[in-house]
Amino acid sequence: MTAPGSTLMDRGGPAQPLLTVRGLRKHFALRGGGFGRDRAAVRAVDGVDFDVAKGETLAIVGESGCGKSTTARLIARLIEPDGGELLFDGEGVGQFGGLALKDYRRRLQMVFQDSQASLNPRLTVLDAVAYGPQVHGLAREAARERTRALLARVGLPPEVFAQRYPHELSGGQRQRVNIARALAFEPRLLILDEAVAALDKSVQAQVLNLLQELKAEQGLTYLFISHDLQVVHYIADRVLVMYLGQVVETGPVDALYAAPRHPYTRALLAAVPSMDPAHRTERPPLAGDPPDPVNPPAGCRFRDRCPLAFSRCAAEAPLLRIAAPAHAVACHLDAGPP
Ligand code: SF4
Repeated sequence: MTAPGSTLMDRGGPAQPLLTVRGLRKHFALRGGGFGRDRAAVRAVDGVDFDVAKGETLAIVGESGCGKSTTARLIARLIEPDGGELLFDGEGVGQFGGLALKDYRRRLQMVFQDSQASLNPRLTVLDAVAYGPQVHGLAREAARERTRALLARVGLPPEVFAQRYPHELSGGQRQRVNIARALAFEPRLLILDEAVAALDKSVQAQVLNLLQELKAEQGLTYLFISHDLQVVHYIADRVLVMYLGQVVETGPVDALYAAPRHPYTRALLAAVPSMDPAHRTERPPLAGDPPDPVNPPAGCRFRDRCPLAFSRCAAEAPLLRIAAPAHAVACHLDAGPP
């Protein structure tokens, strides 16, 4: 859909990551704190590094509060980071380089969990989807033409749905509108933040299949934020596991699911309900709540819940190191390849 010579075209070739994130950090200051005293802060995202390759689906997983949705919002620049650097196809974003924020935001679109709140209740489906391209300079009729084609593509025949309002749609239909609206900008990267979490299982499967088809057809790249490890196994190429604002493991989805290396990843995967009754676990594999993100434990942040913790874990924070091909882990027990 992208015109030759467009500013949206591939710059650095297939080997250059579409998105590079370095040292991303966001601390939310708490109310209170006195004059002359530092205010306490929630360390929501605390030094996160990763790349997203062109055409891949990278899933970010972890418990509620691990920082995955904040990471997504920082990348989309819906909130300002306190530190770190973003490169989009090799180009620095905003104050870090040559790509203006307005151009970056066009190349990257986001679909949220709450399909109802994402849509203006006073706009028809046609107006909601056509609005973005019009704001970016596309003529009204061309924007409407693009919208009708997109609605048809996401399974909402325009002759039936174009003049409907959000309250006249089901949750699955609203999420299809949100996907069409994101694609109307002709983005290269789609951030899907729990985008299928609120849907029934059967509708969820249909929307996931649609996302897979659109990705293949349009050469899209996905950053898929989810707490649902079964959905992630279905859709992701690679997985990044976050715990308390940091990355603890990352690797190809099949390798990571078959042989998780970090004790936290092992516990998360053990908590996924098995379809096989012989493999159902009676005991919750992950005990207790995550520690206070205002005062995370020194050393390894997982040590209060880790069944394998030993003295070094309290003294020294483990670094994220390559443990196997394309597989990295932050744990003192994982010595990596010989
Ligand atoms: Fe457990 Fe220590 Fe590894 Fe942390 S570094 S996950 S506490 S063994």
